[in-house]
This record gives sequence, C-alpha cells and structure tokens, in this order.
Amino acid sequence: MQRISHWVNNKVVAGTSGNTGKVYNPATGEQQSEVDLASIAEVDAVIAAAKKAGLEWRSSNLSRRAEIMFRFRELVVANKNELANVLSLEHGKVPSDAMGEISRGIENVEFACGIPALLKGGYSEQASSGVDVYSIRQPLGVVAGITPFNFPAMVPMWMFANAIMCGNTFVLKPSEKDPSAPMFIAELLRQAGLPDGVFNVVHGDKIAVDRILSHPDIASVSFVGSTPIAKYVYETGTKNGKRVQALGGAKNHMLVLPDADLDMAADAAVSAAFGSAGERCMAISVVLAVDTIADELVEKLKTRVPKIKVGPGTDPTAEMGPLITREHRDKVASYITNANGEGANVVIDGTDKAKDAGFFLNPSLIDKVKPGMKCYDEEIFGPVLTVMRVKSYQEGLDTINSNQFGNGTAIFTRDGGVARQFQFDVQVGMVGINVPIPVPVSYYSFGGWKASLFGDQHMYGPEGINFFTRGKVVTSRWPDPRTSKIDLGFPSAR
Ligand code: NAD
Repeated sequence: MQRISHWVNNKVVAGTSGNTGKVYNPATGEQQSEVDLASIAEVDAVIAAAKKAGLEWRSSNLSRRAEIMFRFRELVVANKNELANVLSLEHGKVPSDAMGEISRGIENVEFACGIPALLKGGYSEQASSGVDVYSIRQPLGVVAGITPFNFPAMVPMWMFANAIMCGNTFVLKPSEKDPSAPMFIAELLRQAGLPDGVFNVVHGDKIAVDRILSHPDIASVSFVGSTPIAKYVYETGTKNGKRVQALGGAKNHMLVLPDADLDMAADAAVSAAFGSAGERCMAISVVLAVDTIADELVEKLKTRVPKIKVGPGTDPTAEMGPLITREHRDKVASYITNANGEGANVVIDGTDKAKDAGFFLNPSLIDKVKPGMKCYDEEIFGPVLTVMRVKSYQEGLDTINSNQFGNGTAIFTRDGGVARQFQFDVQVGMVGINVPIPVPVSYYSFGGWKASLFGDQHMYGPEGINFFTRGKVVTSRWPDPRTSKIDLGFPSAR
C-alpha cells in the first residue's frame, strides 16, 4: 500500500505517530494509499523547521523570491497533465475540471510573481521640518494553511503563493482525504529552488489542526472548509492571538428573471450545479425561478440534466465524476430521498447510480423546494440542483438575503438597471451578472459574507497581501545639530 508522509525541509519525512488515514480512489471505491496523521510533537517539529527557515527567508530579496515563483509557475505548467492525474485519482475530478482547477491556481501564482510591485509602501517627505515618514509592510513569520478536499491544488495556491512571496514561511495542513496534490506541489517548489523549510506539509486530523491553532510560533491561520469548522478555527485561533481568515460553506442562489435568456440560464445552471459533482463552494445549488417562467425553465433543466456524462476521471469524455467518500455520497443521497417527504418534487432522482462501484451519484433535480426543508436549509455539496419558485425579483432577493450563507450568487436578466440594483442590495460576497460562478480573478480577492467567512480579510489578491503582512510606519530624521534641543512636550509636526 502506498504511504503518503509529511514534507519538511524539502524532503519526505515519514510519520512516527502510528496514526494513519485511508485514501480512496473515489471512482473505484477502493483504498489506494494511507496517509500519516501527525502527532503534536510532529507538528511542533514542522513548525520549528519553518521558523528556522524564516530567519533567512524574510531577508531574501524580492527579485530572488520572484525568480523562484516564476520558475515554480513554469514547472506547474510543464507538469499540469501529471498534476491533473493526481487530482483525478484521489478526488475523482474529470480531466476538464482538474485542468480548470490547475489553471485557476496558476493565476494566483502569477499574481504572486508581481508582489514586489505591490509591496511598495508610502513616503511623506518633510512631514515635519527635516522629518520624513514612511510605511512598510513586513511578513508575519510562520503562517499556516488548513485546506479542504475539494480543491487540493488550487486552495493551497490561494494561500502559499502570496504568503511566501511576502517573506513568510508556510505550514500546510491539507485535507487528509486527498493529500497527494500538495506533495506534488511541494516537489515542484523544491525544484524551483525554494530553500529548505520555506514550504512544509504536515498531514493530520483534528490533533494537527488544534496544535496549529495553539502553537505560539504560528502567526496566522488561513482556513477553507465547512462552516462549523471554519467558525471553530476562527474562534480558537483568534483566542490564541492569531490572525485568522476562515472561509466556510455556502448555498449559492441563481435568480432567473422573466426577461432572461432561458436557454443561457439553463445551460449556466446545469454547468454550475454539476461541475465537479457539485463539490464546489461556488456551485449553484438553488435556482430561484420567477413564477411566470418557472415551468419553462424547469423543462429546460429537465432535458439537459440527464445528458451529463458521469464517469471516472480516466474517461476523457466524462463530464462529472464521483463524490469524495462513500459516507458523503450517502449523505447527499439522503437529501434527495427525503425531499419528496418534505413536500418538494424530485424531478430527476440520481440515487440509482449509488449502486455502482465507486462513490457515484447521477445528477438530481428537485423542484418546489422551500425554506424549512433540509435540502434547502443545509449545504448539500453534491450533484443536486434545487429550484425554488418565487413571485418576484423582490421575493428572490429577500430569499437570498435571509439565507445564513453569503458566498456567491448570480442574477440572470437582460435588464441592466435591475442587475445593478441586485448588485447593490444583495448580501453576498461574490456576485455574477449572467455569470453563474463568479470566482474573482486573482487580482481581486475571494471571500463570502455571513456564515461563509469568519474574519475580515478575503483570500488571495490584494487582501491576501494585507493578510500576510503587517504594517510598520517609520518616522525618520537625519542628525542636524542645528535642530537639536531638549523639548518635553508631545512631538508635534507644526
Ligand atoms: P472540512 O471542514 O471537513 O475540512 C476542512 C479542513 O478542516 C481539513 O483540512 C480537515 O482535516 C479539517 N478538519 C475537519 N474536521 C475538523 C475538526 N473537527 N477539527 C479541526 N479540523 C478539522 O471541509 P471539507 O469537507 O474538506 O470541504 C468541503 C467544505 O469546504 C464545504 O463546506 C465547502 O463549501 C467548503 N469550501 C469552502 C470554500 C470557500 O472558499 N468558502 C472553498 C472550498 C470549500
């Protein structure tokens, strides 16, 4: 059985805790490897390596950091087929989806290559007579990332590219369900010339996470995962004096108005709901259809959904792969099975596929959902598209704003004025206008509102630079004997 171990000081380091986790091939349902799960002492050793490396890394010049990051970008591009294969084997992504994840990750690396231009501070000459004032941003020290199973390559890249370029050293605790992609990335960083200890991977479960959250040498924690854990990570990390950004779960609504191009809306809803088997925090899970066009839209969805080709990542024609684990597949299936009893209308039931080997479901469509039903109130995180019928734009907007989550949303309309009003009123962090998955490009920042994000800094882009640095302001005067005197008053610029 293949064993996946930690990555410290640019080397694979075998675990010693005796605890391991099982890693499956979701397309076959078979266990294919085991991953070491770190003890507290092992986490401490990884953090110590990162701390030691930080002394030199924070002094490295920006050109050298950029050169390494450019080289890493080239290596990811050159190895993208192999990395996509790693993603498919453990996560189950089909090739087009795996390639999409890698290319969005590369965007973040490209943004990070340009950080020298963005780390410029401010300078005020002659703030007082002979006195200049300037601001600089400095790294935090050892920073940690804790990442989910659904983007094992891209989400770490959201974090470490900016963190490292800003002069921090990084400890990644990836999902134990698909831990190989971060190891592949670690090897590419080594080949790019990143010094020992600047990027480290410690595999683990709650024990590792709790140690990261309490370790005195961890300056910040970036987390992406489900809402209950995000809240826990935020509360525990901040209580221990750490800077924390913790991104949580989602329930993304797509509001379709009567004047929308309904074919375009149906294509967009199906793509955004079933891509990556719905295991995306930006997946559309609820279509809000205004009554007058609801029947027509549901018909259009009904003809499209069964045409999705479900299959393993090894099939180049497959459009949708399996779910991550058997337990998760069964949980998703239970939302579909229970929906009829709750008063919804299961138009297409994909649970028959659960009989296959592997953790598959077929895409499902549930109409007439309402708040109070489990399939609406909870994040399903699977290939299930629900439709809620609303009387008007206003009812659609109110529904979105009453939801506990606020990650992404979309409006489909031809009316620019209404779209603008929606953008103004909706309480969601990322908004699409006739765009179903509005993941911001890397030079903006990613983050939701409400229960989708704990903390005040979004991830990557300009807010990522703020998160991984802290400001310092220097007030400076060169010695001038003519201005020297004793003055016990509070320093004033006038
Ligand atoms: P998860 O919360 O189960 O796990 C995320 C990380 O937390 C993993 O590294 C895991 O090992 C760790 N963890 C799990 N349980 C823990 C516990 N009890 N104590 C401490 N640490 C724990 O999430 P997941 O199932 O890997 O990922 C899916 C979830 O992530 C979904 O809810 C999805 O919406 C969310 N997600 C959000 C975003 C976003 O940007 N908002 C992006 C991707 C995924």
